[in-house]
Amino acid sequence: MPDHPEGCSLSLFQLLEGDPVATVVIDAEHRIVHWNRACAALTGLAAAEMVGTCDQWRAFYADNRPILADLLVDGASGERIAQLYGGRSRPSESIEGAYEAEDFFPQFGSSGRWLFFTAAAIHDAEGRVVGAIETLQDVTERRRAEAALRDSEACLAQIVDGSSVAMLVINAEHRVTHWNRACEVLTGRLARELIGSDQHWEAFYPTRRPIMADLVVDGASEAAVDRLYHGRYRPSALLPGAYEAEDFFPHFGDGGRWLFFTAAPLHSPAGEVVGAIETLQDVTERRRAEDALRDSEERYRKLSLTDPLTGLFNSRHLRDKLHQELERAGRYHRPLCLLLLDCDHFKRINDSYGHLEGDKVLQALALAINRCLRRSDSAFRHGGEEFIVLMPEAGAEAGRVLGERLRACFAAEAVESASGEAIRCTVSIGVAEYRADDDEHMLIRRADEACYRAKGLGRNRVVVAGSDD
Ligand code: GH3
Ligand code: MG
Ligand code: MG
Repeated sequence: MPDHPEGCSLSLFQLLEGDPVATVVIDAEHRIVHWNRACAALTGLAAAEMVGTCDQWRAFYADNRPILADLLVDGASGERIAQLYGGRSRPSESIEGAYEAEDFFPQFGSSGRWLFFTAAAIHDAEGRVVGAIETLQDVTERRRAEAALRDSEACLAQIVDGSSVAMLVINAEHRVTHWNRACEVLTGRLARELIGSDQHWEAFYPTRRPIMADLVVDGASEAAVDRLYHGRYRPSALLPGAYEAEDFFPHFGDGGRWLFFTAAPLHSPAGEVVGAIETLQDVTERRRAEDALRDSEERYRKLSLTDPLTGLFNSRHLRDKLHQELERAGRYHRPLCLLLLDCDHFKRINDSYGHLEGDKVLQALALAINRCLRRSDSAFRHGGEEFIVLMPEAGAEAGRVLGERLRACFAAEAVESASGEAIRCTVSIGVAEYRADDDEHMLIRRADEACYRAKGLGRNRVVVAGSDD
């Protein structure tokens, strides 16, 4: 018997000796002709003990059975090999006629090792099988890493699926990897339709566009996020690279829903972004409650400022507004004009037609005032049948002109009484221009005095404070 199969030179064995991959070579009689150092280290059996014997099984199994190299020397069929390796073997894709398998060997190391082994027959020049070479690679760490990854993926899936908050996860290729039950309920789209696809936008928008998770995966700039969420988003205070937003989705449910959503990047241990997780909460009810509250606050605010009979601002608001306008006029040296209107002989109207008819006259006067005002002017019911108009940026002359228009406008109107009679009424108007250091009382008092003079001059007229007429 030759020491080693024909064609395997000594220098080749020297080469194998230093190879970090455990290698065993057997001859056509299944005798070990080479058992390199790496193989000795892996199996705990020295070359001196093994070479020349047919005991290769001892290194791997409790009973005498062929190793993969033995099967190749025997020219065993694929079925026979598969049978011995319980389906964990396959023909090699890279070496013709070779086989590979992966198996667990509990006796190696402290808690067993996973080995990946490849065996190929060795032929002589005539094509006869003269032996076989088998390499064994310890793939325990890779297997463990794979198992750990599987565990952590299973763990993530459980966290996502078990959450009552709607969640979805996409990977770096923007494909959906998780879509939990709560997300199915919220969107009406099933996980099995979307997982593996990049069609998740359909659940939210009528046309294709990125969702927040897509932007996070792409590491989109804040400007890019703003372009799609128009100021309705903010960067997360908790997580770098994450965003949160609240937006209205008109295609959700009946009449649309408000959603609060957050998207955060998922990182690999090396720190690359490998996906993003997005959570979504339906906040429609909260938004509706907030809107209702705002509406009622707005209604209440208006009520608290307006006079119920005429709809003009009330005297409380007059105090605030006049205070503000005086401040402004004083600080910036701007003109300000105040008109005080008092109905003429109003007692007579009440006496002749009754209080209710009198009220209608007051309402008609309020409408006439509103019709004549400039945008910047405001009108107030000062009390009883007296009204005040504030004209920012206007002096006495502009006040007189507006007063005259108001007077003429109201004098030309008639209010129809319940009995069909035309009730006519007029107003006397006092105009006072703001003077430096005026306070609210001084300005109103001058307008009141001017109005009183208008009464004295025969009523239904306008008098400017400080003028001679
Ligand atoms: P003058 O031209 O001098 O102003 O005569 P006048 O009758 O208007 O005199 P006075 O200011 O003394 O009387 C105002 C009247 O307006 C007295 C009050 O009964 C009536 N009045 C005040 N508030 C209302 C109101 O809300 N509705 C009605 N219908 N009348 C009111
Ligand atoms: Mg009066
Ligand atoms: Mg009056």
